[in-house]
Amino acid sequence: MATNGDLGRKLRMGIVGGGQGSFIGRVHVTAAVLDNRAELVAGAFSSDAARSKASAADYAVSDRRAYGSFAEMFAAERALPEGERIDFVSIATPNHMHFPVAKAALAAGFHVVCDKPLTLTLAEAEELATLVAASKQVFVVTHNYTGYPLVRQAREMILAGELGEIQAVRAEYIQGWLRTRLESEGQKQAAWRTDPAKSGAAGCFGDIGTHAYNLGRFMTGLLPEKIAANLKIFVPDRSLDDYGHAVIRYQNGALGTVTASQISHGRENDLRIQIDGTLGSLEWHQEEPNKMLVRHNGKPHYVYTRDPNAPFTNEAGRAACRLPSGHPEAFFEAFANVYRAGFDAMALALGGKPFETVDTVYPNVRDGVEGMYFIEQAVASSKADGAWLPLAHPLVRR
Ligand code: NAD
Repeated sequence: MATNGDLGRKLRMGIVGGGQGSFIGRVHVTAAVLDNRAELVAGAFSSDAARSKASAADYAVSDRRAYGSFAEMFAAERALPEGERIDFVSIATPNHMHFPVAKAALAAGFHVVCDKPLTLTLAEAEELATLVAASKQVFVVTHNYTGYPLVRQAREMILAGELGEIQAVRAEYIQGWLRTRLESEGQKQAAWRTDPAKSGAAGCFGDIGTHAYNLGRFMTGLLPEKIAANLKIFVPDRSLDDYGHAVIRYQNGALGTVTASQISHGRENDLRIQIDGTLGSLEWHQEEPNKMLVRHNGKPHYVYTRDPNAPFTNEAGRAACRLPSGHPEAFFEAFANVYRAGFDAMALALGGKPFETVDTVYPNVRDGVEGMYFIEQAVASSKADGAWLPLAHPLVRR
């Protein structure tokens, strides 16, 4: 049974990207259908028209709605009767295609779920934010780590003051897969990520540093003030950073650090965060997402587990769980939680009802703008030998 409130039907999804041999498109589709609230009915799966058509069968999308390009998809879907055409578009292409696809999707009247970083440049992100503000369309950015039950639990605990005033945030995202020059060996994901024309001004810092920064912002709600960064290219002949540090000053006087690496031997997707408050500290690791450590001087360390029925689980944590405790939930489910919040808003929008656009449960276009500002200011600071630069963008989410 589809559960989209009064809408009373499943949402119809179109995807751009996710073709054969790609990574995150399949995750988007799995996450979108997990709660039986959406179905994939159309796609422009690849920049290559033949590969797009070939990929459609993998998703059981009919030939008729397997399109050769995103422009063709939007025009054809727009021309279908309202009861058949797609409701929303998920964008799972390399970064340089996010802006043109998102802009065209908004112009065609579709809701949008876009992967991060939002665009190639800050100016493009700001333009999207303006378009979204003038529309009645939902815009979700898949900073998927905000969807984990214990991340949401931590945010609610911190906002309720359980850790006191937050004074330090240490976020790291450490990988090792670009230790060698994989981009010269025909590895597609490495090739576009290390190409400034497709990735943007930053490599590692844009690809995963943005996730680490966003996680700290989401969990603490602290507002940024300034950034100082040092980015490095360690692998010879590479064009974009593969390692970097940033120090962040928050408006309340707290200090944050973001470290991102793609050159650390043996490290996989080690996103981790440690937060220090005046009354307690906490620590969460993406590779062990169903546990969180909370510590207070002089007391035993508390290990919070993902448990929807435990008395220590708060409302935000409980609402993000699907399975009973002990059955591990992870990447797909957290991704699906971002979709779920987006679907709540889309169902309202499609029913002609008002919906929240700024203080949303899902990361929205403003978070995307903030991510782009983080990237551009980190790159600019690094070029200026680590100079302190502003980080409080006017669209920053409060
Ligand atoms: P990928 O190279 O594996 O896949 C990209 C797909 O986009 C391919 O199928 C390619 O053919 C298709 N594509 C390229 N240009 C297109 C066009 N013009 N029209 C239609 N399809 C087109 O890349 P990936 O690793 O899946 O990353 C895709 C995006 O997702 C990037 O922006 C990346 O930063 C982001 N990403 C996010 C997460 C996350 O955890 N949220 C994880 C990985 C990647």
